[in-house]
Amino acid sequence: MDRIGFIGLGNMGRSMAANLHRKGFHVLAYDVNPNASALLEQTGAYIAPSNAAVAAESDVVFTMLPASAVVEEVVLGSGGVLANLRSGSVLVDMSTIDPLVTDRLASAAAAKGCGFVDAPVGRLASHAERGECLFMVGAADDTFARVKPMFEAMGTTVHHCGGVGTGMRTKLVNNYLAIVSCAFNAEALALSQRFGLSLEKTLDVIHGTTATNGQLKIAWPSKVLKGDTEPGFTIDLAHKDLTLIVDAANAARVPMPIGAAARESFSTARGQGQGAKDFSAMADVICDLAQITRPRLG
Ligand code: NAD
Repeated sequence: MDRIGFIGLGNMGRSMAANLHRKGFHVLAYDVNPNASALLEQTGAYIAPSNAAVAAESDVVFTMLPASAVVEEVVLGSGGVLANLRSGSVLVDMSTIDPLVTDRLASAAAAKGCGFVDAPVGRLASHAERGECLFMVGAADDTFARVKPMFEAMGTTVHHCGGVGTGMRTKLVNNYLAIVSCAFNAEALALSQRFGLSLEKTLDVIHGTTATNGQLKIAWPSKVLKGDTEPGFTIDLAHKDLTLIVDAANAARVPMPIGAAARESFSTARGQGQGAKDFSAMADVICDLAQITRPRLG
């Protein structure tokens, strides 16, 4: 059985690595934050002293890291993953990053004789905890077959989108809708609050028409609308994703005026010091700006 390395044990990675371990895979993991590593260690998974040690001891290395620059440093940096991975091993990046960086990582892996898979993750940290992630996978067919059982240990839905790079590009399309909807949900609920409407009744109406959306219907009732703004998925990461999306769209000459405006709504939240909160907290940010009572379900 392939030995698994796992790098990045944050809100998503910790639960995903724990699920791989629980389902019988041999997992060796690392995070620069010792508290994150300690939480995973409690599940019985092994913790390595460095990213290099993870790569040297593993056949398949997963990375679940915050942003493009971090992934590039961890994978391509001196003493990083590719410098220590054996030929024939596979690198699977599940972070959400610039697809051009994905393409560079894939080329560098191929030059070392290693396989590469981009497998960004849909759904939320609560799904990762329950082993219910959705994966958008870009990979050659044989490499996909090798790593598919690992995705099935972490999630319920695995989409093979095509060759390397297609998973990340699919993720940007998906996240455009998922994140922009948070910005316009926030404005809609602020207006409802200003009008003095019943939040329960407003939501009942919206969920019965085509106005509804997954953030409002599935995610928000147990997050911001209950007063829980612990991440989940942070406003900082949502801002990062919208920046990736608008930049990628601009490079491809696709206009994204709504994406750009939504990104600046998230910039406002970060300017107010709210970047570490769950992205559903955009509802509070817009209400605070307009000095309206924050929306809460009873
Ligand atoms: P997070 O910030 O909670 O976790 C990232 C982890 O990486 C942290 O524990 C950090 O210490 C670690 N790290 C940073 N630099 C490192 C290094 N050099 N070596 C080892 N570890 C390092 O982020 P997250 O919410 O777990 O998200 C991870 C990725 O998944 C992001 O790209 C995000 O956009 C994406 N994503 C998140 C969610 C979500 O709901 N949180 C959902 C889908 C996709």
